[in-house]
Amino acid sequence: MNERIKIAIQKSGRLTEHSTTLLQKCGLIISHTKDQLIGYGENMPFDIMFVRDDDIPGLIQENLCEIGIVGANVAIEKQLSYESSQLPSHFVLESSLDFGHCKLSFAYPETSSIRSVNDLEGKTIATSYPFTVKNYFAENQINANVTEFSGAVELAPSLGKAEVICDLVSSGNTLKAHNLVLGETILESVATVVKSNSNQSAFKKMWIDKIIERINGVLQVNESKYIMMHAPKDAINEITTLLPGTESPTVIPLDGITDTVAVHVVCKETVFWETLEELKEVGASSILVVPVEKMLM
Ligand code: ATP
Ligand code: ZN
Repeated sequence: MNERIKIAIQKSGRLTEHSTTLLQKCGLIISHTKDQLIGYGENMPFDIMFVRDDDIPGLIQENLCEIGIVGANVAIEKQLSYESSQLPSHFVLESSLDFGHCKLSFAYPETSSIRSVNDLEGKTIATSYPFTVKNYFAENQINANVTEFSGAVELAPSLGKAEVICDLVSSGNTLKAHNLVLGETILESVATVVKSNSNQSAFKKMWIDKIIERINGVLQVNESKYIMMHAPKDAINEITTLLPGTESPTVIPLDGITDTVAVHVVCKETVFWETLEELKEVGASSILVVPVEKMLM
């Protein structure tokens, strides 16, 4: 029984490099030439499918793969499209990653009088995310028409196809170039691990859980630091509250000194200079901040 788990990632685009690096950081060695659509996991039972990002949720839905890395924008749109046809979705959004940040926002032509969602009643909105936009209108009791555009959504107003657009933005430059003004954001998106919630064999389930645990470990490591310092014994509580995301510190006695100890902590959030200065103010000295390479909680 040679069971293998399939992970779908974007073949070529904004998410590709980060997705491959993430899987490599999880210890997966992938053999893959540029033209192959499937990469082979040499040291673990995983195959990597390189596909268009829009196809990833559907592949999981159809049980053709078990895990995908895709923008939350794409996964949520797909879930809402199934919901609108009363179909259950067979996947869940599992872990938010630290790349692929973008926003799904309205944009209004500079020349129009529309300046907020309150002006959208009866208007036509062009978008590549019709279900997400319709869902937003339903939740906010706005009666507006949604027309689907699969690309170049920014052109819709000048082509007379819509009065407003709702599209992905990361910088406002494209909008500016099309004489559009940024409006309200309806979804903040980030690349996300999407996981099948269909029944799996115990073998597959074990490996799916393992890779997700490693992905979560990599995410924590990206921010985490190991901090060492000398500190007065009675300042330990203050030190722990100053350091975000820490568990109980390790406190080590110093040879021949009674009122000062060595304190070691793993800090799971970004450590800023300001924090180090505050530590110094409560009596810490010889503060060392070192990166963490791997973490398994
Ligand atoms: P494909 O050929 O795979 O369909 P694409 O053109 O749809 O590619 P990309 O432009 O590579 O895809 O975007 C992939 C994902 O990256 C988006 O779905 C979104 O989650 C994220 N993203 C981050 N920033 C932006 C941005 N400024 N514009 C569009 N997408 C962005
Ligand atoms: Zn796409």
